[in-house]
Amino acid sequence: MQDSLLQRSRAAVWHPCTQMKQHETGELPLLPIVRGEGPWLVGEDGRRWLDGISSWWVNLFGHCNPRINAALHEQLDTLEHVILAGCTHAPVVELSERLSALTGGALGHCFYGSDGASATEIALKMSAHYWRNVGRPDKNRFLCLAGGYHGETVGALGVTDIALFRDAYAPLIRAATVLPSPDARNGADAVDVAIDALAAHLDAHHAQTAALIVEPLVQCAAGMAMHDPDYLRRARALCERYQVHLICDEIAVGFGRTGSFFAHEQAGIRPDFLCLSKGITGGYLPLSVVMTRDAIYAAFLDDATARGFLHSHSYTGNPLACRAALATLDIFAQDHVLAANRVRSERIDALLRPLADHPRVRHYRKRGMIFAFDVDADYGFGRRCHREMLARGVLLRPIGNTVYLMPPYILDDAQIGLLCRVTAEAVEAALDQA
Ligand SMILES: *Cc1c(COP(=O)(O)O)cnc(C)c1O
Repeated sequence: MQDSLLQRSRAAVWHPCTQMKQHETGELPLLPIVRGEGPWLVGEDGRRWLDGISSWWVNLFGHCNPRINAALHEQLDTLEHVILAGCTHAPVVELSERLSALTGGALGHCFYGSDGASATEIALKMSAHYWRNVGRPDKNRFLCLAGGYHGETVGALGVTDIALFRDAYAPLIRAATVLPSPDARNGADAVDVAIDALAAHLDAHHAQTAALIVEPLVQCAAGMAMHDPDYLRRARALCERYQVHLICDEIAVGFGRTGSFFAHEQAGIRPDFLCLSKGITGGYLPLSVVMTRDAIYAAFLDDATARGFLHSHSYTGNPLACRAALATLDIFAQDHVLAANRVRSERIDALLRPLADHPRVRHYRKRGMIFAFDVDADYGFGRRCHREMLARGVLLRPIGNTVYLMPPYILDDAQIGLLCRVTAEAVEAALDQA
């Protein structure tokens, strides 16, 4: 008899972000998924789980979405891939034009990568290279926020402040300066404290500083830490005053996740660099993009090859991935997704908000299609809660003791009801087992 998918996976696959021993012992469940249908993941034995975290925040319009599938089938029969150095093609041109238009033309050029971490690397390199090209090579240091997450390659870890992901690699990393986060849980003056620290640092070190990198509105990997848009407005003004680039990492919060198409729009600002990935292809194919201002692009134009941005990835601008992104943008436009999500967001909030009064729940919070709360419990709570949710047919993965929902933009009322009911039940069951 053939071994199950589970047994074969344990023997051959090294899973991401996982202490594999927990799979080996069975402490952490491993789900063998054979099919996706809208918000549902279907297992080997026919069991179904509602994907309440959009498969790691990437899947916006459900699994096996007919419209994205159709666009990809057509692209597959036309052009699957071509080198983007020296060649161009319609999907990458159209995607670049449409993304730029979504920034009101402020960010006129798009540079492509394959995942979020490489977008971070590209933005950091472009910023420092820009300052070098304009005769200010000393501006090569970076600033990031406490709890910030920008990916896990060695360069991206330099601006990531999550000890669990970073500490083992500390000797490999050129660490950025970590400034206080405006996380609203830090108190009513969180924005003032963060801005004062930023201002003081820039005043002393602007001549060595290339850029500040932030996750606008929600620091997702930190446990859905949310802040007021006022922080972004004031940080933007300080960056302007001290000639430091602002990099907005919207890899997680772009594409409608916080209620506006881009999160930075809620502050009425534009960054110098905008990193996008995750939802960009509707969760279909790996693709990332760094968008920047035409003036920054122009500083790389020169007779000297070495003053150009020579960075590359083999699959840069892959036509299939770009086509999936175009189909995703079409759905946003055709279905008035942002308006429909406002209704969904209110429904979810109405059903979840009673949890805010639970004696063990702290800091219930939401922004757009992100909902989170912290649970005052022991260390093992998150894992127990995860198991209780799976047992009730919902896939959620708490971060530490923070329970969060990041659902796809397609849930109907019944699915919203299930998601919220299971969340409350699983929290209770996991607390009971302490
Ligand atoms: C997920 C994420 C990244 C890294 O993206 P990968 O595709 O996982 O490399 C970077 N920044 C933020 C804010 C993210 O959420």
